[in-house]
Amino acid sequence: MYELGVRRSQEIDVDALANKLNRDNAIALTGAGISVASGLPLGNEVVQGIPLNEFFMFHTWKERPSQAFAAYREILLDWRRATPNRAHQALADARIRVITQNIDGLHRDAGSQDVIELHGNLRELRCLRCDAVFASQLVWKAAVPSCPTCGDQLFPGFILEGDAVRHIARAVEWVAAADYLVVVGTQLAMDPVRQLREIARERGADVIWISAMAEKWVPLLLQPAR
Ligand SMILES: [Zn+2]
Repeated sequence: MYELGVRRSQEIDVDALANKLNRDNAIALTGAGISVASGLPLGNEVVQGIPLNEFFMFHTWKERPSQAFAAYREILLDWRRATPNRAHQALADARIRVITQNIDGLHRDAGSQDVIELHGNLRELRCLRCDAVFASQLVWKAAVPSCPTCGDQLFPGFILEGDAVRHIARAVEWVAAADYLVVVGTQLAMDPVRQLREIARERGADVIWISAMAEKWVPLLLQPAR
């Protein structure tokens, strides 16, 4: 595994690595660290009376939906000010497929077409009865928005504590067929990203881990071949 971070942990020739990396057969696996240079996540500990850890719990949305949605609207407005940084942009420009743990939607904003959002997306709402997804605009129409189809209360589009991650089968399929796994801004400590890294390793793929300063290293790694 190659690691690029605050310093190079070993003598890595980034130019040589960039030349070797086959963009068509590379997958990026990203976490919170890639969005730091975009100012996310914001450091708010309590929003509209809701501590952030409770914001991600199902019972908060079930038992205190108006308060939960008030917090949701505030966070949505805050996050809307964030824009993709050079790391998101470089991945999009290189047309590298992205598997992300982030719910900020910045990979899509950067123009990435193939993105798996394992934890869902803050800008979507979900009906648990219909299993349908709606744009977040519905939160401006009612204090607690309801499903346009069935009328049930909507829930946020990101996963809540205890939920399974989304699209994991497709993520496994992508990684199992890749020769390069570029891990950006995640410690690989938690499942399922830890498992995805193991799959890449078993396959003998090159794992390139950018542990810090993604906005510097990702563009260097994905610079156009010369
Ligand atoms: Zn519904």
